[in-house]
Amino acid sequence: MVAIRTREQWGARHDRGAGPAPLPAEFLYLHHTVTRGTGDAAMRTIEQIGEDSFDRGVSYTFAVDTLGAIYEGHGIERRGAHTRGLNSRARAIVAIGNYDVDQPTPALLESIAQLVAHGHRAGWWPRHLTGGHRDAPGAATACPGRHLHAAIPAINRRVGQILAGAPTRPTTPAATPATTHQEPTMMIWREPVASRAAVFAVDHAAGARRRIERPELDAIVGAGGVRHQDPQAKAGWQPPVAGAWLYGIPVAKS
Ligand SMILES: [Zn+2]
Repeated sequence: MVAIRTREQWGARHDRGAGPAPLPAEFLYLHHTVTRGTGDAAMRTIEQIGEDSFDRGVSYTFAVDTLGAIYEGHGIERRGAHTRGLNSRARAIVAIGNYDVDQPTPALLESIAQLVAHGHRAGWWPRHLTGGHRDAPGAATACPGRHLHAAIPAINRRVGQILAGAPTRPTTPAATPATTHQEPTMMIWREPVASRAAVFAVDHAAGARRRIERPELDAIVGAGGVRHQDPQAKAGWQPPVAGAWLYGIPVAKS
């Protein structure tokens, strides 16, 4: 279940886009706002920028902030002002932040993936992000920023997992004893090795980097591994690449 803050909830004050646009959309592009901030106030700032630029309220279909909150933009069946030449045929998810400079947070990436999967199931758009704004035909822009653009393959892999029936959010199985704690124990990320993406992990106890195979990752999640929202939360956990995932593995306490 994906929670989307509606225009009424975040306090939209201007138009719902520039007119109707057909569904399903043919393309789905990812953008960044360059503005920073979180919450309803950040959303109203984006709306004001769109209003000042195009006189039709917020320019994007949905927005996601660094805490993972998802906001309704101009409305799924409406035409925005995000992708020149494709505003009727495409929809736009915008990440709040400047991802030429900032690294996307795991919460942001997860919510984008959940939103893409939700929208596909709802019949709004294709199975994956088509790309970043700069991948659109004729686009002359750095949007959505180099760090977020680099994360698009990982986002699309996560969408594939969700659509294949992976848990909406990795959660602790009901059978797990209550006396467990879930300190981060592993940080897991992908990086290209000999032209293929490989998954690596740093084992928190061992402090060593090693390659991790897919069955082991599945076992971690299956054992109730919890994906943490903020790799910066624990000292020493700096993500080595954009989109690193931090997993906590339940440890039984006596
Ligand atoms: Zn853009």
